Amino acid sequence: MTDHSNEQFKFGTKAIHAGVTPDPTTGAIMTPIFQTSTYVQQGIGKHKGYEYSRTHNPTRTPLEQNLAALENGKYGLCFASGMAATDAVLKLLKAGDEIIACNDLYGGTYRIMTKVFEQFGVKAHFVDMSNPANIEAHINANTRLVWLETPTNPLLTIIDIEAVAKVTRQHGLLLCVDNTFATPYLQNPLDWGADIVMHSATKYLGGHSDVVMGALITNSDELHQRLAFIQNSCGAVPSPHDCFLMLRGIKTLHIRMDRHGENGKAIAEWLLQHPKVDKVYWIGLPTHPKHEVARKQMRGFGGMVSFTLKSDSIEEAAQVVERLQIFAFAESLGGVESICTHPASMTHGSIPREHREKTGLRDSLIRLSVGIEDAQDLINDLAQALN
Ligand SMILES: *Cc1c(COP(=O)(O)O)cnc(C)c1O
Repeated sequence: MTDHSNEQFKFGTKAIHAGVTPDPTTGAIMTPIFQTSTYVQQGIGKHKGYEYSRTHNPTRTPLEQNLAALENGKYGLCFASGMAATDAVLKLLKAGDEIIACNDLYGGTYRIMTKVFEQFGVKAHFVDMSNPANIEAHINANTRLVWLETPTNPLLTIIDIEAVAKVTRQHGLLLCVDNTFATPYLQNPLDWGADIVMHSATKYLGGHSDVVMGALITNSDELHQRLAFIQNSCGAVPSPHDCFLMLRGIKTLHIRMDRHGENGKAIAEWLLQHPKVDKVYWIGLPTHPKHEVARKQMRGFGGMVSFTLKSDSIEEAAQVVERLQIFAFAESLGGVESICTHPASMTHGSIPREHREKTGLRDSLIRLSVGIEDAQDLINDLAQALN
């Protein structure tokens, strides 16, 4: 069987075939769900590469290889959630070490750094990385890790990965990029100099809002060994059934992302024309302040669209999200179905208003995870909710 993780294959072929081979015992084209905790060994030290399912499982292995291929990496590791993957990266650190993270960060990442790892003596600094020179001011002898997310949530700011990697390389720091929003179809951080790519596979990779999972991808033998050691030692691994669902979801990643992007564009352009809409945030708009950086490091712009209302009224924004019929009012993103959130009252509600406004997160901001339904139906839904 050909190895489809090979670089000669393009993304769609890799998404469907990399790491995946027909089951040798039956010819089953789909990777079976190996719902087993242990493996019968032929004798002492004699086994088929599998001893215990926390360490390795034959449904998980193809998925890990598939994700490595999609990120142009050598190694992939899967975890029980995106946060479990982040936890494993942070466990590379020890007491006294410091992290520099971008200030526009997924709330759970901010929480694990400040509320969990700070207790163990690991300190995090949060800086605006839209100008990578800001990072240098926080580097000291204890700095070990730089963590960034691009595009960010919900304001869709872009950080130049290549420019940050230049700084981390120069100072011998690890760079981890949370690539959840872009997916490997639109952006490959390892190609721009990142050491580790982290994913909440729960979102676009799975794509069907039915699995919680995380992943880490790296090119470094040493980092892979250390992370695999942590994965096995701490044990936050996904179930074989979830690995099966993830493999199945990834097979359509490229066509889903194309449609998310087309619908995102149609909706962003429609919102721009609407008299009640103030600002529209979509990285594909030429007016986006970091559009050129996005063009450089991404192959498309995706389906995350945020907008504010001219009234900037929290009540009016709440009415809009409540009136939407196709867009479900829910947390999360990246599924085939469209979802809307109101960050000021949901995910970012715990941040004081003045602080929210400083970062540009206004009261009326509505975030759309544009799904892959028909664009006209989504636009009609927005039209009735806004009018
Ligand atoms: C959802 C999310 C996470 C956390 O992942 P879980 O799978 O929910 O644990 C991390 N980063 C980003 C950008 C996310 O959207």
